Amino acid sequence: MTQPAKKNIAILGSTGSIGKQALDIVRANTDKLQVEVLTAQNNADLLIQQAIEFSPNAVVVGEESKYGYVKDALQKHDIKVYAGADALCQVVQMESIHIVLAAIVGFAGLRSTMAAIEAGKHIALANKETLVVAGALVTEAAKTKGVNIYPVDSEHSAIFQCLAGEFHNKIEKIILTASGGPFRGKDKKYLEHVRKEDALKHPNWNMGAKITIDSATMMNKGLEIIEAAWLFALTPKQIEVVIHPQSIIHSLVQFEDGSIKAQMGLPDMKLPIQYALFYPQRIASSFKRFDFTSYPSLTFENPDMQAFPSIQLAYQAMEKGGNMPCILNAANEIAVNAFLKDEIGFTEIPSIVEKCMGKGQFIAKPTISDYMESDMETRAIATALCQK
Ligand code: NAD
Ligand code: MG
Repeated sequence: MTQPAKKNIAILGSTGSIGKQALDIVRANTDKLQVEVLTAQNNADLLIQQAIEFSPNAVVVGEESKYGYVKDALQKHDIKVYAGADALCQVVQMESIHIVLAAIVGFAGLRSTMAAIEAGKHIALANKETLVVAGALVTEAAKTKGVNIYPVDSEHSAIFQCLAGEFHNKIEKIILTASGGPFRGKDKKYLEHVRKEDALKHPNWNMGAKITIDSATMMNKGLEIIEAAWLFALTPKQIEVVIHPQSIIHSLVQFEDGSIKAQMGLPDMKLPIQYALFYPQRIASSFKRFDFTSYPSLTFENPDMQAFPSIQLAYQAMEKGGNMPCILNAANEIAVNAFLKDEIGFTEIPSIVEKCMGKGQFIAKPTISDYMESDMETRAIATALCQK
């Protein structure tokens, strides 16, 4: 198949951490990438600024009350302006789009990603919650439509890079690395009193607030275990986690002969984003290079499952299957939000998730509307638990 001269890209969540870094890549590769669609929930000013710089075909602002503001600001430009969640699902179907970067945070990203897959668009997937909630449906739809899902999450990109040229070789297991977050080595007692300001200080990565808190609780790794199971068709037993505080080895694959391949580099999300957008090509970049002598010791340790129960909760949800990961995700989104508003303590986040997993109505083979309902029901249960 001949490659188009330029790839037309839709960036869902262009004002977020991943979205902005994707636009840095576009800026450095204007001969290879053309922005077709940009979307944001609330940050209308940044969306307008990005639209003026990148001249997309269309923009969508999620928050409908901001439609007039964005429309007026882009009046003199040949850019269509839409608003609301339904519009998101419509724009991704535009004929001219080659690839959709799904970089919305949380369950909110599911519908538009599904709509893009249904329209036959390849997906660069940052929004891990999409696979956590509805991995069975999403991967099935992708298979039916002949759509590729390229991982953007650094660990999954690492696994994907290790698998290049190995697609017919059986994986014995994968090892996901985790930095351990800002509270690595702390015990439960200490964690009871941590504040959001401390939880928001990630040692190695600069990311959106939700994923930063998920990294502090280690739920991020829990979500990534489920994400990896769907992306690479693995069982829970084939997925291990190792703490690697320097975040240089981004993850590893062990094959049947015992050989382990790792992918390494400085922690910079631009690399996995670029790899997903240009796969199977590697294109030149000016990203800062890794130097071994600056990191004379790369260290590894086991995760502390007592202080950080979220990883076990994710394994349990995945073993149970059905809508259990959807329940886990919805409860976590509500609890993280409540923690960010100082409504609950840090250690209450996993407790609320665990309680919701016990209370939610279990559905073994959920449909998309079951997921929507289960998400809503869990949000109500979790909100009530946060207010206790
Ligand atoms: P962020 O909070 O910085 O950005 C989120 C984006 O989504 C924003 O553009 C926002 O406007 C949009 N958005 C938020 N709520 C929305 C809604 N209800 N409807 C439509 N749009 C909405 O988040 P981020 O850190 O860029 O993360 C995005 C996704 O990528 C998450 O799923 C995260 O887990 C994943 N991810 C991020 C990183 C990272 O380094 N930031 C790394 C790996 C994976
Ligand atoms: Mg990750």
